[in-house]
Amino acid sequence: MIEFLDSHAHVFCKEYGNDTDIVIQHAKDAGLTHLMCICCSLEEAERAFEKQKEEPFLDVAAGYHPEEADDVTSQRMNELEQMIQSGKLKAVGEIGLDYYWRKDNIEKQKEIFIEQIQLAQKYDLPVIIHSRDAILDTYNILKEHPVSKGGIIHCFSSSVEMAKEFVKLGYLIALGGPVTFKNAKVPKEVAQEVPLDHLLIETDCPYLAPMPHRGKRNEPMYVHFIANEIASLRGISLKTLMDAVQKNYQRLFSK
Ligand SMILES: [Zn+2]
Repeated sequence: MIEFLDSHAHVFCKEYGNDTDIVIQHAKDAGLTHLMCICCSLEEAERAFEKQKEEPFLDVAAGYHPEEADDVTSQRMNELEQMIQSGKLKAVGEIGLDYYWRKDNIEKQKEIFIEQIQLAQKYDLPVIIHSRDAILDTYNILKEHPVSKGGIIHCFSSSVEMAKEFVKLGYLIALGGPVTFKNAKVPKEVAQEVPLDHLLIETDCPYLAPMPHRGKRNEPMYVHFIANEIASLRGISLKTLMDAVQKNYQRLFSK
């Protein structure tokens, strides 16, 4: 039997409106054993904790996204720390740098990123990293601020060479919908070259739906399209791929 998982899903974000429960049910029906709920606010995380009581296959991560950097006060950082202390978070994230949307507050983004890395390190949690048009700065910060538990470079969109550098730092490389796009030459190369013991899959839903659902609302149940594409690019069976992905996920998140 092939067991799927989704290492990065925003099922509690407002884009799903009242559909969150249905989307989670779809994921269950599709045979997902783990669904990492990435919460970009503490309110989202509280909802995820509630739902987790009835759906133990949900895991929860929370952190302040770089797009929000300007609004992260020390008060909000304290609230995040309190949530970490509750012991309910599996990871701090997604956190990172995004120079695609904003280049005018780079220093502030870095500061918020580093503070959250330090929180993860203090409480011995892994990190989930968002990096867009900022791969070198992301790399340098992670190199300078080691996280003992490691983490995930989510929706990896840089080169094979950079992927290998992150692997050397101990990070897992997660690939999502773009690997299924016809013209996605580089993600396909990354899918082939990343060592199997450092590879993860994700949907990053509600965005970035894989083929054949490209452009529509994404869901964790579509993760098999991504897994299928990666398995066929690597010339391995879906079962071999998912066995490795499951191992990687469990190694990272088991305490
Ligand atoms: Zn995300």
